[in-house]
Amino acid sequence: MQVIDLRSDTVTQPTPAMRVAMAEAPVGDDVYGEDPTVNQLQEMAATMLGKEAALFVSSGTMGNLAAILAHCGRGDEVILGNLAHTFLYEAGGISALGGVHSCQLMNQPDGTLRLEDIEKVIRPDDAHDPITRLITLENTQNRCGGAAISVEYTQVVGDLAKAHDLQLHIDGARIFNAAAALEVPARALVEPADSVTFCLSKGLCAPVGSVLCGSAEFIHKAHRIRKQLGGGMRQAGILAAAGIVALEEMVARIGEDHARAQKLAAGLAENPGLQIDLEAVKSNMVYGAVDASTGLTMSAVVAKLDELGVKVGATGERSFRLVTHYWVDDQAVETTIRAFAEVMPKG
Ligand SMILES: *Cc1c(COP(=O)(O)O)cnc(C)c1O
Repeated sequence: MQVIDLRSDTVTQPTPAMRVAMAEAPVGDDVYGEDPTVNQLQEMAATMLGKEAALFVSSGTMGNLAAILAHCGRGDEVILGNLAHTFLYEAGGISALGGVHSCQLMNQPDGTLRLEDIEKVIRPDDAHDPITRLITLENTQNRCGGAAISVEYTQVVGDLAKAHDLQLHIDGARIFNAAAALEVPARALVEPADSVTFCLSKGLCAPVGSVLCGSAEFIHKAHRIRKQLGGGMRQAGILAAAGIVALEEMVARIGEDHARAQKLAAGLAENPGLQIDLEAVKSNMVYGAVDASTGLTMSAVVAKLDELGVKVGATGERSFRLVTHYWVDDQAVETTIRAFAEVMPKG
């Protein structure tokens, strides 16, 4: 049975082209800066995102951590969303390892932070207060349905940051999804930011890795922090080679995943046992819930779908998230819609 895995785009297997590129990649010791494939990936990434320099890191978590530690000293404060990945899912690394204080603002349903909320929490120069140093945004915003944050909004936040002498970091784990959803180049979405992290290992299908981009001076600093974190890798070109294929071949097709998320959501919305907000589907994610009238909990639904070869992620007692990606084709979308129909109680 061909398993359809919709739990996340992190489950994506490398493509055949990636495996070939990995096998054939010229490599060297990247801690000496001598891995030509890592260097090539970093140059490509910096160019694509319109930044001076880039740093290959083992994960998105390490990219965000190195970035925030490069921007903030101990006791400094970062303003971020209460639904930000960095706040929820990065094991508190910024405070555990960097002593960075966080100020959480409510993420709006469209993934943004209200400008007046940001302005209100920027600290005065007062010995009682931590020093506000950084604002971070997440694009796409995972927990807000994969919402894409616009160029215009990002620019306004960038202007606000500049006016208050703050830095702006973008957790762009899925920045190319945002770019496809908004039909703008990724570099336009990060132009106002001092730094950005994006993941190669999600919708772009690479097996490992993320890239942090910013000014040459910033990347120089982040490079030392990556070493402190134990993230200096040696013949990492084996991994970077897949990242190059990801940028060359996978970025341009990522919109297909969004079209399939729309089809999947539309099909599931026809199911009377499910609640799907079609308006909320903005990129490659479909968030939904099982109606209480079905008497089914999500864990029961997950188990039954699993038997039918469809893996989905529960996000609560009755709620779920489905993520489309390269390995989910049109037929997989149809099969998933049918599997949900089979699992729901009949009339
Ligand atoms: C996945 C993700 C990360 C972290 O990436 P890992 O490679 O899993 O550490 C950071 N931010 C967002 C928004 C993510 O979705």
